[in-house]
Amino acid sequence: MTIAFIGHGYVGLVTASVFADLGNTVWVVGRTREKIENLKKGVTPFFEPGLAELVKRNVEAGRLKFTLDYKDAVAPSDIIFICVGTPPKEGGEADLINVFMAAENIAKALVGYKVVVTKSTVPPGTNKKIGEILNKFKPYGASFSIASVPEFLREGSAIDDTLHPDRVVVGTTSDRAAEMLLELHKPINGKTVFCNLETAELIKYASNSLLSTKISFANVIALLSEKVGADAERVLEAVGLDKRLGRSFLYAGVGYGGSCFPKDVKALVSIARHYGYNFKLLRAVDEINKQTAQNFVEKIAHHFNNNLKDKRIAVLGLSFKPNTDDMREAPSIYIINQLVKLGANIVAYDPVAMENAKRVLPAGISFARDAYTAARGADAVAVVTEWNEFQQLDLARLARGMSTPVLFDGRNIYEPAKVKALGFTYYGVGRM
Ligand code: NAD
Repeated sequence: MTIAFIGHGYVGLVTASVFADLGNTVWVVGRTREKIENLKKGVTPFFEPGLAELVKRNVEAGRLKFTLDYKDAVAPSDIIFICVGTPPKEGGEADLINVFMAAENIAKALVGYKVVVTKSTVPPGTNKKIGEILNKFKPYGASFSIASVPEFLREGSAIDDTLHPDRVVVGTTSDRAAEMLLELHKPINGKTVFCNLETAELIKYASNSLLSTKISFANVIALLSEKVGADAERVLEAVGLDKRLGRSFLYAGVGYGGSCFPKDVKALVSIARHYGYNFKLLRAVDEINKQTAQNFVEKIAHHFNNNLKDKRIAVLGLSFKPNTDDMREAPSIYIINQLVKLGANIVAYDPVAMENAKRVLPAGISFARDAYTAARGADAVAVVTEWNEFQQLDLARLARGMSTPVLFDGRNIYEPAKVKALGFTYYGVGRM
């Protein structure tokens, strides 16, 4: 099949490359000349494990093509996927300007029959509006069906998630579109869920909101564990052993971040408000998440008697989660800003996100080339993102270089007893 993707971000570029690798001819439309020229040479605009190789291989094989011109991509394609960003507006609702612009540009380039699919996360009713835009701007004689196929990939494991999703949701009322999408997804494992447009649109928000709810719940249990003298890790492990619940996303930490959870929780609150429902549960999830990052800052401040002036704090991990360079809504941003306000000197290290971090973190922060260099002379180390390489650190070596061996383990990646035996003062989340 020949297919097209509008947008070459984490969703667009990964899915496009995977479908190209499966033997399809894939066009990708962008709007920045420099990025498109780089992509044509196989140079990717962000870090995702395995993606650079995948893009290069498929560009060289002539299956993956990039363009600034919608006509190049839309005319030869059977299916066109909209994968543009849907960031939050001030009030929390999704900003759909990019989606509607993409729809208008697709419409103007339509020839023959096409299936236009939205992969971007959009509120119920958006795909119907896309249909209206396509009808308004399409040339005479062109026809289309619309579908909503929300994306569930996770940054850091996006290629594998695309090839082996838990489910492929296909929202459409067109049998022809459903058949074509089924054909395209044949090599992809995972159960297919057929439904109408609004159901598919809501599935994505419901899914991300429930995952966020689990995280905030785990963080409140951690907070309570500290107060009652329980070990949150054991509590959550035992709770998660219940097959009805499961352990995934029941982990205490510094709160969730990234480009999806914070925005999708707020967007679902806003969707509910639009329909007259006050989604108190999700408003609390969002509130708890903010408080969780603040609690981590307060834990650090409390250790230093609320005086962080000239304290040197090494922050390990900046991206919102491991295996990505994505800094969008990363808890590290809030935590570092607060620590700086309290007078701390920050030395930060992240295996891949430092370039992106430099653009969003306050001036005056130093960046180190590795964890040991960051910790040298530090009054404390704070682990904010659980990169694998931090789990394997030689903690004795880390301690030797520090001014005082104090460890704030924001992701509970270390065994408290072992760390304490090395002479550290140790603070986890929800455990002693
Ligand atoms: P992103 O910001 O990484 O990429 C968006 C891309 O769209 C960029 O390449 C941008 O240049 C391009 N773009 C915007 N308007 C355009 C236009 N009019 N024409 C052509 N290109 C245009 O965003 P992302 O992380 O890939 O997310 C895209 C959508 O998918 C969002 O709705 C997001 O909520 C959803 N989603 C994201 C993830 C994730 O893990 N990142 C997972 C599932 C779903």
